[in-house]
Amino acid sequence: MRCVLAIAGSDSSGGAGIQADLRAISAHGLHGLSVITAVTAQNSRVVEAIHRVPARHLLAQLQAVFADFEVAAVKIGMLGGTAAISAVADCLREAGARNIVLDPVLVSSSGTPLLPASGLRKLRGGLIPIVDLLTPNLPEAEALLGRRLNSDRDMRRAADDLIALGARAVLLKGGHRRGSTVVDHLVDHESATSFSHPRLSGSVRGTGCTLASAIACGLALGLPLRAAVHGAEQFLQREMRRAGQTGHGRMRAMNPLQAHPRPAGTHGKR
Ligand code: PLP
Repeated sequence: MRCVLAIAGSDSSGGAGIQADLRAISAHGLHGLSVITAVTAQNSRVVEAIHRVPARHLLAQLQAVFADFEVAAVKIGMLGGTAAISAVADCLREAGARNIVLDPVLVSSSGTPLLPASGLRKLRGGLIPIVDLLTPNLPEAEALLGRRLNSDRDMRRAADDLIALGARAVLLKGGHRRGSTVVDHLVDHESATSFSHPRLSGSVRGTGCTLASAIACGLALGLPLRAAVHGAEQFLQREMRRAGQTGHGRMRAMNPLQAHPRPAGTHGKR
């Protein structure tokens, strides 16, 4: 079975973080390896506390994984601090890891910062230069570039400027903009592609985690980048549509492992 490594924080509400990553990886029929960077105490409404895994133990997890498994792709989410960023960057470089997708998680779905400001500098200089795909949403891209992005033109220019930081490709997600259509821009050194889809009503947790993990799965299965992103965008749209209420917060959670209902009239037929 092909293995995809998720490096991320634990979300005790089960909606985002490593829990969302592993569901997405399993839904693609792949084996999920997990390296936990932080353990958050949160529910569907609030983050109560964050315990960052000490860098020494983070490194031990990474070394244990790379010593044994053939890692076909890596998805990185919440890192939590500069020590974790350095440990992950050094280890991935040393292991010659490929198909690295970085979702630069800065705040929780409920608005709590998950990376201190010093982490931004470290991401820019230490980790982004080794990733194959960077998947920021609009606020994350604004934080990484230090300027506001207001128009389609701003977004396209921002994707180019993020490429200049060293990532091989950037998927700049437009979900935080207004309008009935959401446009995500995929840019690499040779081409630019847009993916548009209708805006869905309501809010869903773990969308960034799920999209980045699904892209990593596509790459692990041998798809070229554009096809992996296209497939992941469709996967996310489908799962967001059937997300459900879990706790008392207003955000819904996805479960790509729940069975798809059979089309009417097919029960009992093979
Ligand atoms: N990682 C952890 C541990 C989180 O708690 C969150 C959000 O709360 C995220 C990542 C980011 O989630 P999203 O995919 O909604 O951006």
